[in-house]
Amino acid sequence: MLTAVISDIHANAEALRAVLADIDSRGIERIICLGDIVGYGPDPLECVDMVRRRCAWSLMGNHDFGVLYEPTNFNPGAEQAAYWTREQFDSEPDPALRAERYEFLGRLRVRVVETPPGGTVPILAVHGSPRRPINEYIFPDDALASPDKLEAIFERVDRLCLVGHTHVPGVFTNEPDFYPPAELGEMTYTFADEEKAIINVGSVGQPRDHDPRASYVVLHPDRAQFVRVEYNVDATAKKIKAIPSLHDWLGDRLYEGR
Ligand code: ZN
Repeated sequence: MLTAVISDIHANAEALRAVLADIDSRGIERIICLGDIVGYGPDPLECVDMVRRRCAWSLMGNHDFGVLYEPTNFNPGAEQAAYWTREQFDSEPDPALRAERYEFLGRLRVRVVETPPGGTVPILAVHGSPRRPINEYIFPDDALASPDKLEAIFERVDRLCLVGHTHVPGVFTNEPDFYPPAELGEMTYTFADEEKAIINVGSVGQPRDHDPRASYVVLHPDRAQFVRVEYNVDATAKKIKAIPSLHDWLGDRLYEGR
């Protein structure tokens, strides 16, 4: 049985629908989500409802946390988007549905360890990093520039770890090194007994690796396969520009994946 791993949807329903259709077309029935379902984008309620319906579970990202509690260390545009997002949850006219959505956000976990069905190795899943699960960024540059940081992070990883948060897909190994998907044969990382790996699955709704296509990972028993999916960027950007509380830049960046 395969598991699709999605992350950082950021209220981009066009991207999420395209990714779910791609997952369905591969006959994959199990989906997990590493958090940041909302924030930045124009469709928070629709995205939360799709994740509630389709995912086995989701983690809590810093943007989900910011909407539920209070944004911390957000730039002004992101903070404004968080408050606008909360208004959308609050203005749901059906009180039962409003409560269900908040209940769902409130129950999101910050850390899950599980052996995926069909797999043999337990995998740690967090939104940001194993030592600060909601907020810490593990940047590709850290492999060379901050080997001590990566070493400390890898101390918290038994073998395999799944993360999102930076919106940059790729694999960190405990050499330490970082491999973008294009540097892996067939966009696939094969698990190795002697090696620890932190796999960043990239972002569904706001990729930042200069590729505007939505990113996710298919988890096989012995490997992680990176997938990119085209979606209607224009439709999401137009929705963002029609909402005064969401800065136009949040739409513009989607075209370039930055
Ligand atoms: Zn994010």
